Amino acid sequence: MRWGLIGASNIAASHMMGAIRANGGEIASVLSSSAERARSYADDNGIPDGFADLDALLAGDIDAVYISTTNEKHFAQAMAAIAAGKHVLCEKPLAMTVSDAVTMVKAAGDAGLTFGTNHHLRNAGSHQAIRDLISSGRIGEVLSMRVMHAVYLPPHLQGWRIDNPAAGGGVIPDIVVHDADTVRFHLGEDPAEVVAIQTASAMASGVEDSVMSVWEMPSGATVMTHESFTHRFAGTGIEVHGTQGSIRATGVMTQRPTGTVTLVTEAGEENVTFSDHNLYVRSVALFQDAVAGKGRPAADGVDGVKSLAVAAAVAEAAKSGRRTAVDYGDI
Ligand code: NDP
Repeated sequence: MRWGLIGASNIAASHMMGAIRANGGEIASVLSSSAERARSYADDNGIPDGFADLDALLAGDIDAVYISTTNEKHFAQAMAAIAAGKHVLCEKPLAMTVSDAVTMVKAAGDAGLTFGTNHHLRNAGSHQAIRDLISSGRIGEVLSMRVMHAVYLPPHLQGWRIDNPAAGGGVIPDIVVHDADTVRFHLGEDPAEVVAIQTASAMASGVEDSVMSVWEMPSGATVMTHESFTHRFAGTGIEVHGTQGSIRATGVMTQRPTGTVTLVTEAGEENVTFSDHNLYVRSVALFQDAVAGKGRPAADGVDGVKSLAVAAAVAEAAKSGRRTAVDYGDI
């Protein structure tokens, strides 16, 4: 499969180019807003063509695009790619609004194109093991879940994320979407209502850099989440508590196949083993299979719309101070 990269980004260079190539994909071109940067990024990364014009990239011999520009650009770029007949793997959050995200996903569906959202966490062996424990009834009926995703944003990423609301900055669009996807993946249901409090430290300007929220699930289970850019030593993890047991996982809300998963039941504590495959390689593999008519992307367009809808509700709840229903739009 031949790919065009829309966005000369860190994530493309650090994880996605390797994942595409590991799956036999060819990277034909890259788009940057600057022709000079497009050229240098292409040269640095062994990509034949660097463009500053999206139409020129889309006119090339490519089957799919991977969109990893700043968040406010995803919608127009995805719509253009779909109009040009390209399959789309798009970074999260899919768009700045739920209704734009719905429009993108429906447009791809109407055109018969594959649309994926690059939620990496559901590709992790740790999360697949946790989901298997839940779905096989090992912890009984789920009562609650806690998500610890307060990290320290590394200096090289302290750009638009911490000072540019117009580009989709802030920890809610950046990390709450991933946690929403992970919770939906584990519990198999969509959050109904949320309450939230956000803060901004000295790191951020004009956007929030920490948020805590509580979600009510249709089953009655409750979910507590904590996302931040400012916590150097907190570590990440999730806990899922059920009537027959609990799952405690540490170090699993990351880009790498790391961490520990422990099952606690009346029988005692059990260390749960899991596969250590690369999360992004699996994401690309499932996307390419879906394009070939086999299965579906790890996270599809509907998953991307739903994670954005939860993040939008958390942002609204934090702003208003009110309990807020999640509006999944017309999906
Ligand atoms: P970057 O800041 O690296 O890139 C975003 C844009 O910024 C690029 O398209 C590029 O635009 C510009 N840019 C990047 N580096 C430079 C530079 N050195 N000089 C000038 N301009 C530069 O973004 P990220 O890779 O951190 O994130 C991109 C997207 O991917 C976001 O939507 C984010 O939410 C998502 N993401 C997803 C992750 C996941 O695990 N699923 C992880 C990280 C990010 P241009 O070339 O046009 O100027």
